[in-house]
Amino acid sequence: MGVDARIVLYCEDEEAARSAARSAFKRMSDLDSVLSDYRANSELMQLCKTAGGNSKLVSKDLLNVLERAQEISIVSGGAFDITVGPLVRLWRTARSGGIFPNNAAINKAMTWVGWEKIIIDSSANSVKLKQPGMILDLGGIGKGFAVDEAMKTLAGVGINICLVDLGGDIAAGAPPPDKKAWIVSVRDGSDIKATINLLCKNKGIATSGDSEQFLKSKGKRYSHIIDPRTGMALTNRIAVTVVAQDCTTADALASAISVLGPTEAKKLLKKFPHTFVQIAFEASDGTWQKINFGSAPFVKKQSEYSSN
Ligand code: ADP
Ligand code: MG
Repeated sequence: MGVDARIVLYCEDEEAARSAARSAFKRMSDLDSVLSDYRANSELMQLCKTAGGNSKLVSKDLLNVLERAQEISIVSGGAFDITVGPLVRLWRTARSGGIFPNNAAINKAMTWVGWEKIIIDSSANSVKLKQPGMILDLGGIGKGFAVDEAMKTLAGVGINICLVDLGGDIAAGAPPPDKKAWIVSVRDGSDIKATINLLCKNKGIATSGDSEQFLKSKGKRYSHIIDPRTGMALTNRIAVTVVAQDCTTADALASAISVLGPTEAKKLLKKFPHTFVQIAFEASDGTWQKINFGSAPFVKKQSEYSSN
């Protein structure tokens, strides 16, 4: 998935700890070969080759992640949509060449976009992509899903005091011995480069923003997050941090909320109680502002945190 992975775990036996970590890393790397849109031979890309044709049997992993993606697409009114693949590729080429994509190309790519074009038959383990040319992109959910699966692998060998970090998408399990929670420090992505220290246990944490991947053209900054409803890369500066019940949800919600913005996000979050969200955004006067939804126990300084 092109990012570093890190596992922290507590276990009484070192060899058991190493073996558990190895299994969890392997789980993530196996999922990469299922979910990647960079590897032409990934299961996801094999599925895309059947677009416009018959339904295809898929693995339980691919089925699960596609189902989770569809759930978020429905509740976000299509702000999160994994059929953005053709647009993602167009904007990716634009970023690497520094050239803005033309309207005709955007309009053409838009004809392949729409989460309703993915038909999932959960009982038959099969998926049909209704239209030829469709490309699915799991960039907004795959890392979160892999993190959750790594946590399950660790739980499967009795390790619950653990933290998995895949390029900033994080799951924190049960707290370390004698601690109330893990402290997860996240950069909020705004130009202020502020860090928030979140106290987390049994939660998934993800951030989305344009601080690292963007195209600059005529003074505007185009994000790697795309509004599937218009085909345009986001130009409003926004950075979203989500703490949710699991990392899959946090990852996908962070992308969805980036597209929706603060007002729409409030409505969406009614469906996700116990979720904390921080949105940092550039207001029309050029200043950065922050809005929080939900309550997360977060601390300003490490020294504010003490055990129990
Ligand atoms: P990161 O990989 O930096 O954590 P995000 O989790 O914010 O990124 O997801 C952004 C990625 O998701 C994009 O690079 C692209 O692959 C994909 N994507 C872009 N826009 C959308 C969208 N509206 N819905 C779903 N996926 C998207
Ligand atoms: Mg993410």
